[in-house]
Amino acid sequence: MTTLYAGGWIVTCDDAGTEHPSGWVLVDGELVAALGDGEEPEADERVELGGAVVTPGLVNTHHHLYQTLTRARAQQADLFTWLRELYPVWARIDAEAEYAAARTGLAELALSGCTTVFDHHYVFPRGREGLIEAEVQAARELGVRIVASRGSMDLGAADGGLPPDDLVEELDSVLAETERLAGELHEPGPGARVQLAVAPCSPFSVTRRLMQESAAIARGLGLPLHTHLAETREEEAYCMELYGCTPVEYLADLGWLGADVWCAHCVHLSADEIQDFASSGTGVAHCPTSNLRLGAGVAPVRQLVDGAVRVGLGVDGSASNERSDLLFEVKQALLSARGRDGPEALTAREALRLGTRGGAAVLGVDIGRVRQSDGAFISVDVAPALPGTWNVRWAVAIRCLLLPVPASAPRRSRRAARRTGSRGDRPARSRVPVRARRAAGCRVGRGGSPPAATARAAASPTLPR
Ligand code: ZN
Repeated sequence: MTTLYAGGWIVTCDDAGTEHPSGWVLVDGELVAALGDGEEPEADERVELGGAVVTPGLVNTHHHLYQTLTRARAQQADLFTWLRELYPVWARIDAEAEYAAARTGLAELALSGCTTVFDHHYVFPRGREGLIEAEVQAARELGVRIVASRGSMDLGAADGGLPPDDLVEELDSVLAETERLAGELHEPGPGARVQLAVAPCSPFSVTRRLMQESAAIARGLGLPLHTHLAETREEEAYCMELYGCTPVEYLADLGWLGADVWCAHCVHLSADEIQDFASSGTGVAHCPTSNLRLGAGVAPVRQLVDGAVRVGLGVDGSASNERSDLLFEVKQALLSARGRDGPEALTAREALRLGTRGGAAVLGVDIGRVRQSDGAFISVDVAPALPGTWNVRWAVAIRCLLLPVPASAPRRSRRAARRTGSRGDRPARSRVPVRARRAAGCRVGRGGSPPAATARAAASPTLPR
């Protein structure tokens, strides 16, 4: 089954920044078979995009899916106050809640054009099992790539940490669970749909020993490392008091800086620390909406990009964002950088690149561009582009995700006639309702096969209660 998406503004995000203002993408099964402009190739089905912008699927480099169920709390709190109010709520999570939260959060992300999600899960109340398995199941059902993580907290309030003592774990059980999940869930190599990272939560909720042991086990298993870092001035003061150094100096002292590591936020970095990130290859998940919501500040994105630091975007958890909309985060990165450093601080294309190639580089996966032979994870912005100004529509656009059709789909009996006239010869039909239904996992088309998400959902077992 081949489908030609034609008449779109194709933004490939390749190394040369190639764009096809009146281009097409030919999708064969689950793969991009070809793309370009000019004469269109034959296809079983042709979808007229009407000038809509086509981008690679967006890559989310920092999230907490479980927080989808705990939005709108602690509205005017700083990070530590916000956390103290929410820890007791999060302590009630179980696998059923995690599954519902992940289904909702991942669907929101997919509708915003996001196809790859890193989820930082670090809340493991005692006796609650199957939390990571539940979110992985949700991702498989929705057809979204997921980099899940075994996060952790072992520094409770009684020992000078921030989380309550009944929400922290024993170090040995954290490491054993990490090893178990890596063995059961992690898929190595290109094309993986489920991978695992090791992600102790933060300097104020994890002991020095667990940070070191986490790095050792991750490097032994070949898994990437992630943590929150340098998010607020309060965190910096906490590190100075407890460890006698800044958060970045603390991380360097632990042996954490490296090409297998990325950190969320990094709002408060000195010029020397940016250089440390660049020279070590350490990446950054920039989460502007969450940082603004909690009054944490704005990360020095221009300086990070100029310093050749790997930078991607993250929506962060919905409890500090209220939504899971990654294309909105692209716009927020653009605006917050300009608010911090002036109108030249970031271009729209640079912001989009952070959300695609930047995120892919941070996660260490070779995705984030529209490319022949890659999976057909592309995003279409329904509103038509204005020449040279496609970015301005982000404020009002509706985005939908084109999910790949399963490779086993039956071929249509009649092939579409080869296009011979101009595009104006073919009556354009609105695809918005169809794409919206396709993104929602419903059957679309004229008797064709169900899209991938529906097929996967049908094949997946229901969550054990
Ligand atoms: Zn976070």
